[in-house]
Order: sequence, then structure tokens, then C-alpha cells
Amino acid sequence: MPDDDLKNHPLGLKDGKKLLDSYVKHTSDAVCKLVDDNELSIDILAYAMQQFIDSLLPLPKEVVCKQGCAFCCHLRVGLSIPEALIIHNELMTKAPQDFVQEIQKRINTIAKTGDTVDDTFWHTTRTSCPFLEKSAGSICGVYNIRPLSCRAYHATSVENCKEGYDKGLETKIPCFPLFRSMIDMYSNAFIAAMKEKKLVSFQVEFTSALHILFSDNTAANRWLKGEDVFKTARILP
Ligand code: SF4
Repeated sequence: MPDDDLKNHPLGLKDGKKLLDSYVKHTSDAVCKLVDDNELSIDILAYAMQQFIDSLLPLPKEVVCKQGCAFCCHLRVGLSIPEALIIHNELMTKAPQDFVQEIQKRINTIAKTGDTVDDTFWHTTRTSCPFLEKSAGSICGVYNIRPLSCRAYHATSVENCKEGYDKGLETKIPCFPLFRSMIDMYSNAFIAAMKEKKLVSFQVEFTSALHILFSDNTAANRWLKGEDVFKTARILP
């Protein structure tokens, strides 16, 4: 959550951060325990992810987001490495082959277009997420397994989203910052838990991380064994 949003929140900057840090720690500890009680695997991370999803609160009723409005699906998506592994694994094991091939094609095209880790790339090129199904009315092709940050993102007025898209600029989106932070918290907990388990763990850019996973079928296992596989997809704080 940006500091400005927290400053304006009734909890205030200090207490808000303290509360979120406490939730991240609590959730990260729960993920570590799950990993300790089982073997670290994509399946066990997917189980944790499903627990997170099941516990999410619904969007507040003031939110104006609706199916087919996809301005935010042209922005950079940051996520934890477990989320990228889970989504890639679901695609490889459950999605129709022609869908996966199409997604791979789109990811390869985007990867050649520019530096996708850079936020400016997404604002200025208006490149859509490879999963945005424009011909089907701009719906998300992986809605049920989409990243946590996609679940967190919302707006209480669509004008700012449209303005940002039209002008190729980052605009301030009116929203419920605490709601966003509470969902992003789960992604941060994944990052913290994997660090605790001595894996190389940081936030990565969605398309770049998937490009790595699609280009090298040993990438997931090498990461699970402690290799720094995703360094080129890293979003620096
Ligand atoms: S994963 Fe789905 S919701 Fe997230 S940016 Fe891509 S199309 Fe949009």
C-alpha cells in the first residue's frame, strides 16, 4: 500500500503497517508449517493458494469493476513465484493444448516487444495481459487461478482507469487501499515463507516469469531446489 494511502487511513501509517506486517508474519508462518508437515511442492503451494482464495472477502459494493472492463489488464502484474508456478502448472496439466499454445505464442511476442519488468513498458505500450481474451469480450482466460494482485485490484470510479489507459500514464485509482493491501498480504506472505524456507524469493513480473517457465521445463524444479531461476523477472522494490 502506498504510504500516502496509509497516511489517510483511519489506522494511520504506523498502525496500518504494523497490522499488515503482523498478518504477513502470521500467514507466512502458516505456509512454513504446511511445508514442514508436507514436502515442498507445487501441489502444496497450490493448496495454500486455494486456502487464501477461500478466505478472501468479497469486493465492497461501491466497486465499479465489471466483466469486460479491462483497463487494468494492461498494467504490470506483480506476483510471488509460487503463484507463477501454480498458474503455469495448472495450464500445463489442465488447460486445453491449443489454449496453452496460444498463450505461449502471446508471451513470446510480448517478451520480444520490450522490457516487461519495467512498469513504464505496460503504461506506454498498452500491451494487454496474455490471458486477456479480447475476442471473447475482454474476459480473463485464467479467472479462477488469476494472481492475487488481480484479485486485489479494483476501482470505485472507472474514469481514472480510462484516463490512465488513454494517456499511457500511471494514474491514481480511487479504491479501498486497505482491501487491496489485505489481499496483497497473501502474496507477500508467500514471498516471506519461501525466503524462510531458504528459496530465492521476491516479487516477479507475471509475463516474464511465465516466459521463463515456458522456455525451460526444468525451471520450476530448479527453483524448488534453491536456484535463482527468476532473477530476470524480478521487480525491484
Ligand atoms: S490474469 Fe486475468 S485479471 Fe490478471 S491481468 Fe491477466 S487477464 Fe487481467
